[in-house]
Amino acid sequence: MDYNDSIRAVKGVGEKAEQRFAKLQIREVGDLLEHYPRDYDEFHDTVPIRTLEEGKRMAIEGVLRRKPTVRNTSRIKIITALFEDETGTVQVTWFNMPFLASRLHMGTRYLLRGRVGRVNGKLVLEQPKMYSKNEFYKNVGKMLPIYPLTAGLTNVQVTKAVKQALSECEGITEFLPPEIRKRHDLIGYRKAVQDIHFPKNRIEFYRARRRLVFDELFLYQAALRAIRVRNDRESSHVMTYREQLDSFREALPFALTNAQENVFSEILADLTGGHVMNRLVQGDVGSGKTVVAVMALYLTVCNGGQGAFMVPTEVLASQHCASLQKMLGPFGVRIGLLTGSLTAKQKREGKEMLASGEWDVVVGTHAILQDNVQFHDLALVITDEQHRFGVRQRETLSEKGTEPHVLAMSATPIPRTLALVLYGDMDLSVMDERPADRLPVKNCVVGTEFRPNAYHFMKEQIDLGHQIYIICPMVEENEESELESVMIYADRLREGFRGAVSVDSLHGKMKPQEKNEVMERFAGGKTDILVSTTVIEVGIDVPNATVMMIENAERFGLAQLHQLRGRVGRGAAQSYCILMYGRESKEGKERLSILAGSNDGFKIAEEDLKLRGQGDFFGEMQSGDKLFKLADIYEDAKILTAAHEEAGRYKFDEISRFYKKNKRLMEKLEHYMGDVPL
Ligand code: ADP
Ligand code: MG
Repeated sequence: MDYNDSIRAVKGVGEKAEQRFAKLQIREVGDLLEHYPRDYDEFHDTVPIRTLEEGKRMAIEGVLRRKPTVRNTSRIKIITALFEDETGTVQVTWFNMPFLASRLHMGTRYLLRGRVGRVNGKLVLEQPKMYSKNEFYKNVGKMLPIYPLTAGLTNVQVTKAVKQALSECEGITEFLPPEIRKRHDLIGYRKAVQDIHFPKNRIEFYRARRRLVFDELFLYQAALRAIRVRNDRESSHVMTYREQLDSFREALPFALTNAQENVFSEILADLTGGHVMNRLVQGDVGSGKTVVAVMALYLTVCNGGQGAFMVPTEVLASQHCASLQKMLGPFGVRIGLLTGSLTAKQKREGKEMLASGEWDVVVGTHAILQDNVQFHDLALVITDEQHRFGVRQRETLSEKGTEPHVLAMSATPIPRTLALVLYGDMDLSVMDERPADRLPVKNCVVGTEFRPNAYHFMKEQIDLGHQIYIICPMVEENEESELESVMIYADRLREGFRGAVSVDSLHGKMKPQEKNEVMERFAGGKTDILVSTTVIEVGIDVPNATVMMIENAERFGLAQLHQLRGRVGRGAAQSYCILMYGRESKEGKERLSILAGSNDGFKIAEEDLKLRGQGDFFGEMQSGDKLFKLADIYEDAKILTAAHEEAGRYKFDEISRFYKKNKRLMEKLEHYMGDVPL
């Protein structure tokens, strides 16, 4: 038997069982072996009845004290009996096992093991299994696997199948080199697989888990590294430094921060260094990523190449196009906009300008990546505010043009461990500083009773000439009512302020064109308060806005709230963020107070990862099966770092040779690498 055999090869697995296993994505023997227990039933010795604890699985040895009674309800038969030992008595119940009633004998001692529940305030041993002493003591000390199941498959069936596969599968052989195992003190592969299913005790379990978690993380890191090394190609767009860049910098209305200088010099080294750039800039909101990207674009254009600037939404595309025009237009750079909502004619003309090289830079949404968009000479692709795409999507991106340089700018700071996982194939720059003239945003977490005060405060800010965002209460997933809630909220505000302020609204149902108009009015200072859903979230930059109020703040993730808050504090004036929670919930309030206590996006992201787990971060980038079966990048952060370093230790040809010798390892790597060939 081998990994790739159908699980029908396992004794006792017939057609029916095969179908049921398929529901758990188990088709081959290998899938079965990687169907890890979700928990373990730890088999302890018997305990005195007096020490039974609710909610646990426990065993007792007791004498039957009262004749069992059988109660018939409409669907089930319930047997109740009373057992006693030296320390007390306990009631025991069985469901649908009426035959037991005649088998239990008064005055006889029984060994019973089951879950301790509570009925009418009293502890009850539920549905216990009856053991002979011999049978029982064989199990004591063991941890029995509890598997994820599906209808028609019992834990006993799965356990049996796994046992069979373990004893007959020949392919469970070591694939890590001895030196790696030694360096990280890892147990052998075969033993790890055996022990993760049937550990004799906790220590065995931990060792097995550690080995297998290391495998997952190492393989993934190795795959990313392989991709990265493979992508590390000679560039056909080697740039040279141009003095025009100095005049551009002199024309900026501000001096760059140290962080901006550092990141730009890393980018510059890439662009002039002869290799294809593949870099991620991680910067907190408001750290000024755009101007750094613009400098890279300008250098590209000065060197005769074209640049593409990709953003996730049309509103953002228009805004960036306008600000790029303002910054680069005076230097003769020709900038165009390409989005889905342009007319067919506009699109066609735009594409022609790009193909002929009349446009130096194009700003747009994903539309830029369509097949029919051609460049004269694309040398730099920038993706802004978009951290949620996987390795494979980044691949298609670089296929446009002749291996352009790629600069990704992430919308949300992500914890370092997570960055290793999501972006292990890229070079990383961190921008951890905000322009010096910024005052930190002042935060408060308040209940809805504070709303009148908040409005009063807003009026004062408006009188000072500032502007305000209000993120509308969230509604259930019904777009009609989302629209409604924004409209109603905006109307109520107008009434409340008796027409003394101008209120506008923005929501997901609007056409991009309408959204743009609303944003332009706001950016132009014509609107005092903008009521919006979270469509406002990414990248919008209106430095004059000083108040962000978020209704129902408890319903958002911390990282998202931090993004929203990042819409203010972008100018020199003091800004404020009012986090209003709708429901009284201690947990929610605590979560919000983390946000109120810190303006540091990196720290908040770390907390968010801790609180919500990795699922949310991966949610949008994975389809179907989970990236890791066992590993949790927060819990296992130490192993992740070790695996990352280990994967970086080998030269590419070493890895590749080694992988190719090892069929199982190759298969495992392919799982992570998708279509990217080694
Ligand atoms: P983000 O990193 O969130 O994308 P932006 O690039 O939109 O931030 O920059 C936020 C604001 O800060 C913009 O209005 C920009 O003009 C301004 N800015 C950028 N760099 C500096 C700087 N070094 N000093 C002062 N203001 C700056
Ligand atoms: Mg930005």
